[in-house]
Amino acid sequence: MGIKVAKFGGSSVADGIQLTKTKQIIEQDPDRKYIVVSAPGKRFDGDSKITDLLYLCKTHIDHNLPYDQIFQVVADRYMAVEVNLGIDVDLLKHFDEIKAELKRNPSADYIASRGEFLNAVLIAGFLGYDFVDTANLIKFDAKGKLLVEETDEALRTELAKHERAVLPGFYGSTPDGNIKTFSRGGSDITGALVARAINADVYENWTDVSGFLMADPRIVKNPKQIETISYKELRELSYMGASVLHDEAIYPARMANVPINIRNTNKPEDNGTLITGEDHPAFLKAKGRTVTGIAGSKDFTVVALYKNMMSSERGFVRRILGVLDDYGVGFEHLPSGIDTVSVVMSNKDIGDRLDEIVDAFRTRLQPDNIDIIEDIALIATVGHRMSYRPGVAARLFTALGDAEVNIRMIDQGSSEMNIIVGVENKDFQKAIRAIYDAFCEEE
Ligand code: ASP
Repeated sequence: MGIKVAKFGGSSVADGIQLTKTKQIIEQDPDRKYIVVSAPGKRFDGDSKITDLLYLCKTHIDHNLPYDQIFQVVADRYMAVEVNLGIDVDLLKHFDEIKAELKRNPSADYIASRGEFLNAVLIAGFLGYDFVDTANLIKFDAKGKLLVEETDEALRTELAKHERAVLPGFYGSTPDGNIKTFSRGGSDITGALVARAINADVYENWTDVSGFLMADPRIVKNPKQIETISYKELRELSYMGASVLHDEAIYPARMANVPINIRNTNKPEDNGTLITGEDHPAFLKAKGRTVTGIAGSKDFTVVALYKNMMSSERGFVRRILGVLDDYGVGFEHLPSGIDTVSVVMSNKDIGDRLDEIVDAFRTRLQPDNIDIIEDIALIATVGHRMSYRPGVAARLFTALGDAEVNIRMIDQGSSEMNIIVGVENKDFQKAIRAIYDAFCEEE
C-alpha cells in the first residue's frame, strides 16, 4: 500500500453532485489517504465562487455596508450540501463563530480562508475522515513568507497521528496566530506541501480538465494531451502562460521528487498528465514527443542596444540592469550578440514609461544605436528531448517560414529545453499553429 495526497479544486467540490463524484474517486483507491480541498467554486457559468463572496463580505465590512445577506448566501450553499448529502457536522456552530469574528472586522485573509475551512469540515464528515486544520501547520513568517522547513515538520508530525484526513487548502498562519493565505488558487500549494511532508507516492490534483494540452485549445483545434511532462518543462510552459496548476505548487513536489498527476473529476477514467523529474521511471518509460508543449503570450517590447566594441566594455549589462531596477521593470530575456544586447520587457511592466526608459538607456549607456520593436509576442517551444535530437530548430524555423511568420527574435537557453521566438503580436496565433503542426504528429 502506498500513500496518495489528493487535492480537489473548487469545481470538484462545488456542490452535492460534485462531492458525490469526489467521494467515489477517493473510495476507489484506499491509498488516497490525505485529501486537500478548495472552497466551493462555480457550479455553472455566471455562478459565484465562495472565495469571491467572502472577499466581497470583507469589502462591505470595510465600507460599513451590511454584509449579512452575502454571508447568508455563503452559509446556505454549505447548508444545502449538508442537508442533501445527509452529513452531520454542526455547521451552524461554525457559522456562529465566524459571524462573531466578522463583527470585529477581521483581515481579508481570515474571511477568505473560511471557504476552505468550512468545506474541509463538511467533506471530512462526508468521508468519515479526520478534519485537520492547516492554520497551525502551514507556517509563514511575520512578513508572510512561507517557512518551508517548519511547515514540512509540522505537517509530518501532525499527520502521523491521522490515518486518513481532510485538510483545508489555501491558508496557514503567521507567528502571531493570524491567518495568512497564499495567492489565489493557492490550495494547489497546500496539496504539494502535504505531499512533500509525508513523502507521498503521488500528488493527485483533481480539477475539471484532463491535464495539460500541447497548446492552448483556443488557438489550436483539439490539441493533443501531454501524458508526461517534467517539472522543469512545466515551469517553462507555465511561465509563458499555460495554467492549470498554481506556479508555486511545483517546487515542493519537485523538492521531494513526488510526481504530480493532474486528473479530471468529471472524467476519472482519463489518466491525465503526470509531472515528474526527468529521472523518474515514469518519465523515462514514456515515449514522449520531441516537443512537449508550446505556450506564449503577447505584448512585449524589445529594446535592442548596439555599441561598437561593446564586447570589451566592462559593466555594460550591469548598467542596463541598473536602469531596469530604477524603473522597477523586470527583463524577460536578454539575448546578446558581440556588439548588441536586446532587452525584452513586458508592456505591463513598462506602462507608459517607454520613452523615459529608453532615454535612461541612452544617457547611461551611450549606445551607437537603439532599435525599439513594440508589440512583440513571445512563444516558447518546450521539450526536454529537444536537446539530443538534431534538426529541431531547423524544423521549427522552417515551419514558421512556410507560414510566412517573420521572426523578430530568437533565444535558446543552453539547456536546449526551450526555444523562444519573438514574433509580431498579429502573427501570434498563426505561429503557434505552425509550430504545433510541425511537431504534433510524431510519437
Ligand atoms: N479558494 C481559493 C481561490 O479561489 C484558493 C483555491 O481554490 O485554491 O483562489
